[in-house]
Amino acid sequence: GLPKGVVVLGATGSIGTSTLDVISRHPELYRVHALTAHSSREALLQQCLKHRPDVAVIDSAEDAGWMAARLQEAGVATEMHHGQRALEEVAGASEADVVMAAIVGAAGLLPTLAAVRAGKRVLLANKEALVMSGNLFMRAVEKSGATLLPIDSEHNAIFQCLPGHHRGGLVHHGVTQLLLTASGGPFRGYDREHLATVTPDQACAHPNWSMGRKISVDSATLMNKGLELIEACWLFDARPDQIQVVVHPQSVIHSMVAYSDGSVLAQLGNPDMRTPIAYGLSWPDRIDSGVETLDLFAVARLDFEPADERAFPCLRLAREAMACGGVQPAVLNAANEVAVAAFLDGHIGFNDIPALVEQVREGVTEGGAETLEAVLEADRHARCLARAWLERKNG
Ligand code: NDP
Ligand code: MG
Repeated sequence: GLPKGVVVLGATGSIGTSTLDVISRHPELYRVHALTAHSSREALLQQCLKHRPDVAVIDSAEDAGWMAARLQEAGVATEMHHGQRALEEVAGASEADVVMAAIVGAAGLLPTLAAVRAGKRVLLANKEALVMSGNLFMRAVEKSGATLLPIDSEHNAIFQCLPGHHRGGLVHHGVTQLLLTASGGPFRGYDREHLATVTPDQACAHPNWSMGRKISVDSATLMNKGLELIEACWLFDARPDQIQVVVHPQSVIHSMVAYSDGSVLAQLGNPDMRTPIAYGLSWPDRIDSGVETLDLFAVARLDFEPADERAFPCLRLAREAMACGGVQPAVLNAANEVAVAAFLDGHIGFNDIPALVEQVREGVTEGGAETLEAVLEADRHARCLARAWLERKNG
């Protein structure tokens, strides 16, 4: 058949770049319909010159104009659009068969939902979107018939270890537990006192994965694992108590599924996001991703240990937010986004991230998350409380 049209939301990021790498290996299978970025106009321009999408989207009109002029000079027919609405439009465009949702944070919610509502094959990297709007998001998937495939390496691994049709509750299929692996991040083994002194650059130097700065900090605080726990509950219809976090420093096992007969299935591979991206693109088939086969003799050993929730309270905070339900996961996510940005800007210390998140969570009264408006309002309110906390702290 014809090559499938792919939209990459967040094309200039770590996941976006890896996605384009996989796609460009298979021109007979995929064509790039649209690429989007927030403000990296030079990087987006280079991607457009190379991949020649029909459309590209950037946030500001000025950057869009700058790009349009360069594209015209180069004789490339990519149409430039700008603004939030344009993101939603390309995500739902009729030329799009596959949408890679790889914008970071809450900014990805509306475009990702647009792809879901349009019934696309949605490759979900943007976990924050699902964490914020869980129930609403999954109901939109059901309603539109979208194919939702997890790109987060852990969820992609679990998906690969589950039977083909796992809808309708895990116990139905003899699943007793989902084992979510975690590298432990760059500060594994540190105590609170030591964590108080760590810098943003140290937090962004992950031992096994190269990622955007926000998720790198989340990996260092274990909030990433907390967000992933919530993500897994929604994707696999699991309860928080059916998910166990296992720290596995080598990041070779990407996650596991335990069954009632004692079997534990695992997915292994080199830590490279092109593997889950390729699986999302090609499922239920397999394509070459450019990732080398795992060399087990080079790995030599696999270690496992429990997570240290005293030094890294974010995991507990996320589990509690999921147990509370309603808008609490959205509040957790928003407070965390503000805290991580403040940490990256040097305004607060590492241990202030969980402290801020916990304070904001306590300040928000519980509410339902049945409507998009309720979710967005909770997000806004939590950000206000978080900024007030920062002002009290630093002002
Ligand atoms: P990056 O920071 O590397 O890239 C983010 C992308 O989103 C960039 O293209 C950026 O554009 C765009 N973007 C940022 N803010 C906005 C905004 N307000 N509106 C529109 N676009 C925006 O992030 P990653 O690639 O690391 O992560 C992307 C998502 O994937 C995250 O949700 C992360 O949790 C998830 N993920 C990432 C993994 C990884 O290995 N990196 C692994 C598993 C999940 P610009 O360049 O112009 O700023
Ligand atoms: Mg992950």
